[in-house]
Amino acid sequence: MAGGEGRVCDIRYHTAVIIDGHTHIFPPDVGERRDEYLRRDAGFREIYSRPEARIATADELLASMDGAGIDASVACGFGWSDAELCRSHSEYLLEVASASGGRIIPFCTIQPADGDARDDLKRYAVRGARGLGELRPAQQGYSLIDSPEANLLAWAADAYDLAVLFHASEPVGHVYPGKTGLPVDQLGRFVSDFPGVAVIAAHWGGGLPFYALMPEMRSALDRTYFDTAATGFIYSPEIYARVIDLIGADKIIFGSDFPLIPQERALKELRDVPLDETARRLIEGENVRDLLRLPAP
Ligand SMILES: [Zn+2]
Repeated sequence: MAGGEGRVCDIRYHTAVIIDGHTHIFPPDVGERRDEYLRRDAGFREIYSRPEARIATADELLASMDGAGIDASVACGFGWSDAELCRSHSEYLLEVASASGGRIIPFCTIQPADGDARDDLKRYAVRGARGLGELRPAQQGYSLIDSPEANLLAWAADAYDLAVLFHASEPVGHVYPGKTGLPVDQLGRFVSDFPGVAVIAAHWGGGLPFYALMPEMRSALDRTYFDTAATGFIYSPEIYARVIDLIGADKIIFGSDFPLIPQERALKELRDVPLDETARRLIEGENVRDLLRLPAP
């Protein structure tokens, strides 16, 4: 906590910001005509062909935030292969974010292999996008190694001050719908090739924090953050302590993966983890607030 007279500190403590750094919302049309979208996109099909895989709108996200006591949420799109689907999804995210009074923080989605992607990125940035994501390069059909798509994403992140949220796949362990998305070696190459880009590696980066023990990776990971999305599906709660040891609490961002995981449950899981107060504040909201330069509560 910054210095200053006690009362100010006390107020700031009690208004600690809670931000969910990883949620997904879709335009209502996607939920209403789900079968059509399932036919159109193989990546969407992989995750959403199961009827129990929920699709939520902005209104449902806002209601969930009210119930869970969450101040703001990063709302991601989906890594569609079809550039037109990315465009309509991003338009929706920007619209609902601008009507939300700052409670929805838009991360637009992009198909960087499309010829108009550069124009799309500029338009999104002008209209208030704070990041891109959740991108799934393997499902969207591009690589992050020595590719024009990687160059374009890094250029846009730098030019427009955007964070890039990548899905990250554990190379081992149980299989689940949507596990594929980005092999961890590609993620490692991207952060090494573009160390100035603010990357949020979803789902604890598929194990990438371990490689922070390599000196060259430690410096490459200087601007990489790891989110906790869907922790309960993948890891035991000890992961918090282990990754704090590896890379520091200032690099961990709370994320639920709503609506896959209810926000209230994700926050409860986090609150059940023994953490010191500083680490808790950073993870629950201050890291992502500072990264995205969001206004203080
Ligand atoms: Zn993901």
